[in-house]
Amino acid sequence: MSSHPLITVAIAGPLRRAFTYATHDAIGPLTPGQRLLVPFGKGRKLGYYLGPSEPPPGNITVKQVIKPLDEVSFFSADLFQFCLWMADYYFANPADVLACALPSMLKSAVAVRYRWADQILTIPKQVESLCKPGKKISAATLQSIHQSGKTIFRKLVSEGLVEEIWDGDASDDSQRIGGYRMAEDAQLETLAAKGKQPPVPFYGEKSRSELRELGWSEHYLGKAIAQRLLLPIPAKENHPLDFIKGRPEVRSISLNAEQRSVVDTVTPALTAGFKPFLLHGITGSGKTIVYCHLAQAVIDLHKTALVLTPEIALSGATLAYLRGFFGDQVTVIHSAMTDRERLDSWRGIRRGKYRIVVGPRSAIFAPLPDLGLIIVDEEHDGSYKQDDPSPRFHGRDCAIMRAKQNNIPVLLGSASPSIESYYHARQGRYHLLELTQRPGEAVLPEIRIVDMRTEGVKGEAGFVSLPLKKEVEKRLALDQQVILFLNRRGYSPMLRCGDCGHIPLCPSCNIRLTYHKVGHRLTCHYCGFIRSNYDNCDQCFGTKILYMGAGTQKVEEMIPKLFVGATTIRLDSDSAGGRVSAHRILNAFAQREYNLLLGTQMVTKGLDMPNVSLVGVLSADSGSDLPDFRSTEKTFARLLQVAGRSGRAGIRGEVIFQTYAPESELITDASRQDFRSFYERELLSRQECSYPPFVRLTNIIFSSLEEASLETVALEFHARLKARLAQSGITAQLLGPHPCPLYLLRKSYRRHIIVKTNQQVAFVRMLTQWEAEESRFKLPAAIKVIVDIDPDDMM
Ligand code: ADP
Ligand code: ZN
Repeated sequence: MSSHPLITVAIAGPLRRAFTYATHDAIGPLTPGQRLLVPFGKGRKLGYYLGPSEPPPGNITVKQVIKPLDEVSFFSADLFQFCLWMADYYFANPADVLACALPSMLKSAVAVRYRWADQILTIPKQVESLCKPGKKISAATLQSIHQSGKTIFRKLVSEGLVEEIWDGDASDDSQRIGGYRMAEDAQLETLAAKGKQPPVPFYGEKSRSELRELGWSEHYLGKAIAQRLLLPIPAKENHPLDFIKGRPEVRSISLNAEQRSVVDTVTPALTAGFKPFLLHGITGSGKTIVYCHLAQAVIDLHKTALVLTPEIALSGATLAYLRGFFGDQVTVIHSAMTDRERLDSWRGIRRGKYRIVVGPRSAIFAPLPDLGLIIVDEEHDGSYKQDDPSPRFHGRDCAIMRAKQNNIPVLLGSASPSIESYYHARQGRYHLLELTQRPGEAVLPEIRIVDMRTEGVKGEAGFVSLPLKKEVEKRLALDQQVILFLNRRGYSPMLRCGDCGHIPLCPSCNIRLTYHKVGHRLTCHYCGFIRSNYDNCDQCFGTKILYMGAGTQKVEEMIPKLFVGATTIRLDSDSAGGRVSAHRILNAFAQREYNLLLGTQMVTKGLDMPNVSLVGVLSADSGSDLPDFRSTEKTFARLLQVAGRSGRAGIRGEVIFQTYAPESELITDASRQDFRSFYERELLSRQECSYPPFVRLTNIIFSSLEEASLETVALEFHARLKARLAQSGITAQLLGPHPCPLYLLRKSYRRHIIVKTNQQVAFVRMLTQWEAEESRFKLPAAIKVIVDIDPDDMM
């Protein structure tokens, strides 16, 4: 037995270390990333082949692999390398990263079978006996063929002349359901047996696999569906490509001089290796058209392109344009699709059927052959970062790495680039490209600042100023459209007892509950906790409940009283039954079925709407005071984005910022759309406080149900970390362990240590080594630890 080669295998789970196994006679040569069935503990697990292994030290007995699940790895060499890099860099288990790159059906230990693909013309003699066309080839049959037959067979698989199939792959009825939403009056508590936690409530529409990721067990799912607490949504309705029609007319738009020069600069780079570009183009400057022309140049080279967007359902314009240019050669891949749809996309991508892939951060794993260019649209957007679960990767940064490994160019685009990216461009690390004008007749909107301290209308409508009210009515009378933006969903962000002043809080997170009029319930926007029928104060049992402040639902209710002639549609994550329906709402508005669109930041992205002539920002300051070093940057980007929705084509647009801080530099820069001025100031403050791009951050979060031991453990970890840093000669600044801004989340207390260093790679390597020496850093079992590399926020 010992004569069989030893191999390293990655196995999903909290332990990041790889395991050593032995092969056996029936196992032929393995390819990196190939899935294996291995014995593990008392059971069996799915593992991924990483490479050959040295004999482990001591006389540990090495177990034998049971069998490979696939004849050929699903990973091309470049995608495999990329996944390993990601695991290393983001301190993740390679098995978790590799699993991210596979369709959900392949994440469990199902064995793959094969069949001849339709396009195979002649089946080579050596493998002819395997089966008849149309029939499945079983693993047992494959085992029986000799080595040269196997080699030929593998080649056929990689050429797409043999197709993989597996159990669960058949299209049965359950696959026709796209997802589920919670019934409006659903009481999930009724699902749980005594003393058990009920499943977590959720917003909008989620697919079955998303629900499982949220912690819903099959048991709860079945029960909730049977009791109609979860309502099925047919898959058809859910398919993003059905909504988004191509706009073939965009092919005939001729580029203006600026756009042409961008295309002419990037095109030669398509054949010249790795090179990062940053396209800083003001809102409405036609970045999308530029992306299309570049994708065309990629296709002309017989290569493929990947276009990342922050949220797929809201990137209607990008997708509509790309479909207009490339028709069926474009596909999307994202989590709101059903498992089946995702599988179809993924297969088509591997086989080269689709030349262009559009998708959110997870699309970075798209198995595109001959990748020629990666485009990252709205590169500043925070949704590129995955917070949870691991791998906690940043889609944009990973795009740069994937481009580097594939030796191809990468183009980041934005109207308000991230401070980091713009800094890299100014330092000459990225090639900076600019679009400074709106094409044709369109000009940037005029932005007016309204001081809410003096202009706020008294009384219930205190969130709309007189100037805004007048302007909205004027625009509506002219048959133009208006967008109102408020970054707060729900009806009322806070309830207060009129008698004793008590404010109801989330029992798991200790933050204020938001009141939702639909369903008459209070919810926690962090953990999803729901409380129904809060009619009496918890403290004094009084009935005088005051609904303080205003969220989108309340404003929606006020609109008929406020603005004559408004027909309103609301867009936020409550009104949009899922990320895909968001596109429908935007579409209905773009089709002018409504003249006023009210919503959260979902309204800032998406379609371009030529008839919108006014954007009202109800609370321009909101968000800028969060305890987070990126909060000003995010507020600025949001203001620029939302303002950019106004004034396309013929009509000069106007924007009104309602603010309580009219003299703040953030507001004035945003009102002048002055990115440079904002950037210079923000960069200085980043330098003064040592934040990226001047250092790299790691957020180490400890959480525990028990408050008392947490601080001690965190302090002790801090001391050990300090010693190890000194030992390995890494210069780093440690902050904490402080309580996290969200100290209590889902019943867990949380503390964190923030590490600032310029030796990030060495630092992560040190952590990895430490963890290998002391499993889980020798933390007590009750303490959970998360290592978040390059965090987007600190919550
Ligand atoms: P961005 O993504 O930079 O905000 P878009 O790509 O949405 O801008 O383009 C804004 C509008 O300008 C769209 O309606 C688009 O069709 C139009 N447009 C873009 N380029 C041109 C051009 N060269 N000539 C005429 N119209 C253009
Ligand atoms: Zn909560």
